[in-house]
Amino acid sequence: MKISNRAKSVSPSLTLEITAKANKLKADGVDVISFGAGEPDFNTPDFIISAAKNALDCGKTKYTPAAGTLSLRAAIADKLKRENALDYKASDIVVSNGAKHCLHNALQAILDPGDEVIIPAPYWLTYPELVKISDGVPVFVQTKAEDGFRLTTDELEKAITKKTKAVIINTPNNPTGAVYSKRELEKLAEVVLKHDGIYIISDEIYEHLVYDGAEPVSIASFSDEIKERTIIVNGVSKTFSMTGWRIGYTASNGEVAKAIASLQSHETSNPNTPAQYATEAALCDGGHGGAFVEGMLKEFDERRLLLMKKLEDSDKISYVRPKGAFYVMVCIKDCFGKKCEGRKISSALDFANVLLEKKNVAVIPCESFGAPDYVRLSYAISKRDIEVGADRIISFVNNLTR
Ligand code: PLP
Repeated sequence: MKISNRAKSVSPSLTLEITAKANKLKADGVDVISFGAGEPDFNTPDFIISAAKNALDCGKTKYTPAAGTLSLRAAIADKLKRENALDYKASDIVVSNGAKHCLHNALQAILDPGDEVIIPAPYWLTYPELVKISDGVPVFVQTKAEDGFRLTTDELEKAITKKTKAVIINTPNNPTGAVYSKRELEKLAEVVLKHDGIYIISDEIYEHLVYDGAEPVSIASFSDEIKERTIIVNGVSKTFSMTGWRIGYTASNGEVAKAIASLQSHETSNPNTPAQYATEAALCDGGHGGAFVEGMLKEFDERRLLLMKKLEDSDKISYVRPKGAFYVMVCIKDCFGKKCEGRKISSALDFANVLLEKKNVAVIPCESFGAPDYVRLSYAISKRDIEVGADRIISFVNNLTR
């Protein structure tokens, strides 16, 4: 009895190893500082929780249309109009079980075996695995630190082949925190439009988490032509601290939306019904969502500045200033070949393991994010933890020996 080649093609997550070790230490009572969080450390706002409770009290506990309730899809269309200057009909939108599920659905809807998907590296580690699960071929394009880890038109052009079916653009980016400017996105859109049959999958899940005056722009908003080619992936996980509610959505042309809804109707049926009502409250125009996001953003920005300042205390590490999301990607290349109490560091995974063992600090090694010289630090933790954890990291890297 064998498992499928498809299942075997999926890489196990390196991040889980570190997270599991950190959790075990914590459970044993060790003061572990974890920079591993991939989710905001805020409670889901009360008004959203109330909306879910109210939905339950009103008996909203049954199936909905597979693509989501019409009222939620209309609320999402309103949001896209209001915030992104995009005109979508409710029928162009499919609500799914988190943005991750949306990405999976989108790839399932457009890929045939052997189709290539361009993924700028560093990337969120799930992208290549989802492409492989859909029988596609991930094609990585290495972006450069000096370009702020943003894909250039030349790099994109060179990666396009006859088999290219899609390009994934993630702005603001996990793990780099890069945010593309409007001009940069316009230029990338021009390259895509020169070639027939290439979709853009635009992962906008961190769209509201931007700093230093950066402005989130949806690549779909430039023209009807590019909108037709774009599948927007977004959701409420990060913006409203709703990671556990599992609601995301795609906005695309009607044909793709129909294909996604049809696939989903057999895979999972509709996403969780009360969570859809909660999401409608979160996205409601003039509701309390804006104030919540503003408060969270202010706090994240303070933590971002604090963490960056602390990281300046060592010339053994460096980072590219992040303008979005809640991560700082730190270059630890200069630590390779060095030792801590006899333990040699030859990779980001070694760095993360030894740092955890010797200093009780968990960071995410970025090998599986296409950035083997880096570790990712999330600042979705308290300022106290940022200060203590960063001090430990600095002491660790400054005391490595040959
Ligand atoms: N896209 C990116 C870039 C992410 O970092 C994440 C979560 O970490 C997701 C999508 C998935 O979001 P969701 O929790 O809504 O599935």
